[in-house]
Amino acid sequence: MSTDAPNEALIYTRRGAVAVLTLNNPPVNGLGYALRCGIVAGLERALADTEVSAVVLTGGEKVFSGGADVREFGTPKSTMSPNLPEVIRALESSPKPVVAAMAGHALGGGLELALGCHWRVLRRDATLGLPEVKLGLLPGAGGTQRLPRAVGLQTALEMITSGEPRKAATFAGSLLVDELVDTDVVSAAVAFAERAVAEGRAPRRLRDLAVDAPDAESQLTQVRAKVAAAAKGQPAPLACVERVADSLTLPFDEGLKRERETFLALMVTPESRAARHVFAAERAAGKIPDLPEGTPIRDIRQVGVIGAGTMGGGITMNFLNIGLPVVLLETQQEALDRGLATIRRNYEATAKKGRMTQEQVEQRMALITPTLEYAGLAEVDLVIEAVFENLAVKEQVFTQLDAVCKPGAILASNTSYLDLNKIAAFTRRPADVVGLHFFSPANVMRLLEVVRGAATAPDVLATAMALGKKIKKVAVVSGVCDGFIGNRMLARYGAAANALIVAGATPQQVDQALERFGFAMGPFRVGDLAGLDIGWATRKRRAEEAGVPHDPVIADRICELGRFGQKTGSGWYRYEAGVREPIPDPVVDQIIADYRAAKGVTPRPVSDEEVVQRCVFALVNEGARILAEGIAARASDIDLVYLNGYGFPKHRGGPMCYAIEVGLATVVQALQRFAAEPGADASWQPAPRLLQGAAEGGSLR
Ligand code: NAD
Repeated sequence: MSTDAPNEALIYTRRGAVAVLTLNNPPVNGLGYALRCGIVAGLERALADTEVSAVVLTGGEKVFSGGADVREFGTPKSTMSPNLPEVIRALESSPKPVVAAMAGHALGGGLELALGCHWRVLRRDATLGLPEVKLGLLPGAGGTQRLPRAVGLQTALEMITSGEPRKAATFAGSLLVDELVDTDVVSAAVAFAERAVAEGRAPRRLRDLAVDAPDAESQLTQVRAKVAAAAKGQPAPLACVERVADSLTLPFDEGLKRERETFLALMVTPESRAARHVFAAERAAGKIPDLPEGTPIRDIRQVGVIGAGTMGGGITMNFLNIGLPVVLLETQQEALDRGLATIRRNYEATAKKGRMTQEQVEQRMALITPTLEYAGLAEVDLVIEAVFENLAVKEQVFTQLDAVCKPGAILASNTSYLDLNKIAAFTRRPADVVGLHFFSPANVMRLLEVVRGAATAPDVLATAMALGKKIKKVAVVSGVCDGFIGNRMLARYGAAANALIVAGATPQQVDQALERFGFAMGPFRVGDLAGLDIGWATRKRRAEEAGVPHDPVIADRICELGRFGQKTGSGWYRYEAGVREPIPDPVVDQIIADYRAAKGVTPRPVSDEEVVQRCVFALVNEGARILAEGIAARASDIDLVYLNGYGFPKHRGGPMCYAIEVGLATVVQALQRFAAEPGADASWQPAPRLLQGAAEGGSLR
């Protein structure tokens, strides 16, 4: 075996008469510029060497390639020659046989690279996929033309329009997989290449083959309808279908050309920009500016949860799901039993759908130690409090935790609004206190706001972020303020929606306008779903605490009639038994009309555009203040909060991304218009950070 490294990103070795080109760009062999150059140089060297009769291309035994090198995204290197289509063309046209040896992931450009090789030897557990559609794109290096030739029309359509990866073993018998092995894929590929040479087999190029597509027309018709319905106006999924369809009718090179054109066109759509923004945002959120990499992490082996209500139960499930035991504490046996029964019911519902076995249900339930005694928490490494949202109750809980928990245990609160610094001060160890703000249902929603108190220790913060990842959440750091990032912004959004009703809109108009914008549900439908009574009680309590008479808003008038939303059969809308669809209700129209009359408001027409502008720009304006105060480290963190916790439409990339897309100057102008109206709320004044961003050319740092 001879070794030489013309290029560090590609290791060139020889096994007998076979040249082995090993991709070497950790962690996932991203196809950056240096690696692309390395592959081409390695191939040229193998072709020039008369002692070499075949080539194996591999990423070794761990990972073939995760596709484009995300570190080069948006830099000139990402498109510099040799680009990926050129590299693939070189491999495919090689006169000496080229065999891919694949283990681990082969995704996106990584799979397209392998499709350019003449044969493929795979580890059975390798994962193959073309996920570009998830970034609002399509495979841009031949994937739409070569994959259908390898696996047939139907499978290619499914993979490319869904972006979901599949295990190598599922492709047995197709031209994607020539040999499956359990171990040592490189040796197997070398042996394969030697056999190909010995048997004098001519390189098999996918480009020369026809697509296997019985009944293509009816398949395409079905897929077009299905994809169009699911895509909700997004261009990429349908473009994927059409380019794959080209593989049936167009000459190969023409198909490639159309694929490239479509790829470039999709690259500049707002939807793709938003999707790529979200991808980058998720990577950035884990980096905390003043938290050095390598900050130690505390070991979490056992968790305590206080309160087995709506949130406590869901929070508990997160840890059971990753095999961590949970001590669950309540004050009353009845509440504890109710909480346990709810967790069990949730798991059994999952088992009924076939997504887990009854045995797994029992295993998870067995990880819970229910208790009514604080002494049961002496050994836990982390405890999360999810009791009533009341500072006095939180004080009782944290004083007791301080007394019983072992040194080094992390004490966390799931509070939605309360001052975490005050909560930390109830203990003698404020450095160990952090906020872990889950969203309901806590076992489902992806967002976790990690609230950093003034005294929170770096290793506590680092542990919270790492734990978030373990339980598969999108963890975003927030500083301390009323409502943290998400609920503080939500208050502005809700106020804007209510003001629109007072001004002249109807609840259904506001809901429908925001649903057309892309929210799954408008704010009044959300209110009816969540229950209106909690907000009513909070407003009354706040007035009492402030020593001022309570001045009921429209929502309070609705609650006064016992209408608390879906659970009472009516709220902002009325509901018919067993139907979730809201029905506009003249009773509510009358309450609104009476309210306007009492306030001396003459209703005016409100356009759908105004609804979206007021509600979404209210979010943006408060987000900019949150950014300026350092409550959020970056605008993209705010976007993640809204996308993962509040149903903001994914394809718009979050409120701050949307503001940049429409132009900060446009946002500022609208806010100035709203602020200039007689009697306007002061919160409409554009945040200084937005004014600055608009003046500096439209970006938000
Ligand atoms: P909940 O009323 O459903 O549950 C609270 C539970 O805590 C009850 O089972 C109660 O018996 C128990 N409890 C009360 N005092 C206790 C004590 N001293 N010791 C032990 N247990 C006690 O309330 P929830 O909706 O689960 O909210 C809990 C916390 O989570 C609150 O701080 C809330 O602001 C926050 N939160 C709620 C949501 C939500 O959507 N519901 C979302 C995020 C955060």
